[in-house]
Amino acid sequence: MRPHHLSTVRMSLKRKRLDDYKPLVGQEVIDEVLRLASDLKGLRVLQINSTAYGGGVAELLTALVPLEVASGINVEWKTLPQHVDFFEVTKLFHNALQGKEYEPSIADIEKYIEHNRLSAESESSRYDLIIAHDPQPAAFRHFGGHVGAKWVWRCHIDTSHPGQAVWDFLHPFIREYDAAVFTMKKFLPPGIGIPEERIFFIPPAIDPLSTKNIDLPVSLSKTVLSEFGIDLERPLLTQVSRFDPWKDPMGVIRIYRRAKERVPDLQLALIGSMATDDPEGWEMYVAIENELKDDSDAFIFTNLNGAGSLEVNAFQRLSNLIVQKSIREGFGLVVSEALWKGTPVVAGNTGGIPLQMANGVGGFLADGEDDYVDRVMFLLENPTEAHDIGYRGMKFVKDHFLVIRLLIDELKLFRSLVL
Ligand code: UDP
Repeated sequence: MRPHHLSTVRMSLKRKRLDDYKPLVGQEVIDEVLRLASDLKGLRVLQINSTAYGGGVAELLTALVPLEVASGINVEWKTLPQHVDFFEVTKLFHNALQGKEYEPSIADIEKYIEHNRLSAESESSRYDLIIAHDPQPAAFRHFGGHVGAKWVWRCHIDTSHPGQAVWDFLHPFIREYDAAVFTMKKFLPPGIGIPEERIFFIPPAIDPLSTKNIDLPVSLSKTVLSEFGIDLERPLLTQVSRFDPWKDPMGVIRIYRRAKERVPDLQLALIGSMATDDPEGWEMYVAIENELKDDSDAFIFTNLNGAGSLEVNAFQRLSNLIVQKSIREGFGLVVSEALWKGTPVVAGNTGGIPLQMANGVGGFLADGEDDYVDRVMFLLENPTEAHDIGYRGMKFVKDHFLVIRLLIDELKLFRSLVL
């Protein structure tokens, strides 16, 4: 690791206008944003996370930060320096925080500390508020305290039962933050040591106007799927997720195979992005590819062979249903993304997924593989009910999981910390 390469990386931001969201959320909601932002004008905020691409946090910041800027706040988004050996350690931390057994070695701890220390020390800009996302930059506050500001640790993962060794290591760093934000109450780790009034619960949201979620002409969606080899006349089941054991892609394949015994026409698409901070992705990709190599009805796509946001949008729109077979989940933005397009979802009853849907509203929360197969079969065999269930899911996402709601929650958070 070369210390002089260890400086944070500033992300360039898309430009967004609050007015564009008016037809979706109404004038009153936009007025509420402007009112909340009015005395935060010029506030200097840093959002720092590990990657600009490939997972929910990157997606969320891409959606949110430009709207914060459009509200008059001086927000910058930076990532940690992109070093694979650091991300190998932080993925182990991530897995351990979600409950997997892992005892960090001295070398792992040194790598984590050194990377955080040098990147925090490289930060010379001044901010009023700094929000560090997830475990990767959790020690940033300890080493970067010199920049002043109020500090928030924004945790997106399920830390309700963290592995003891990793938690014992990270907890002293996390305790130093002024405030913490979790997606839901039940993710709060035991004895966090931040005062209760400084702990906030804010679920994520999707941007309805992003390339990933914007309305697409059916003809364009069809062209995209045809180009990827999908037969538009036959049913399609899709999962969109990083290739990660917690997303259980092998479980999806088992369910697909069982459903295909009853619907021989069925096709499967597994779409997975290669996030820079997730080195496990490649190993899983190879294993999945190997598993599917003799099945010409099963497809695996990644951002590296052209499955970007527009393509994900088209797949989420035209699939008969989406499966999200998560075993552990922070929130699972992909669920809201699919529901927003009116596509029903069969998903694991875990983490933030039940916040987004319920049985009959958006799809089904499955309990075990037999249940998954039954729910998938029901949606494939009952297209009218599937359509109604998807429609109810779309309405629910519209009311609860669009980015303007998140913007309002975040502005309230800023106000409670700096005014
Ligand atoms: N994603 C993508 N392409 C892929 C796989 C995932 O763009 O091939 C996006 C997906 O659309 C979603 C995000 O990555 O916006 C994943 O977020 P989620 O909260 O579902 O899971 P995480 O990866 O954060 O665990």
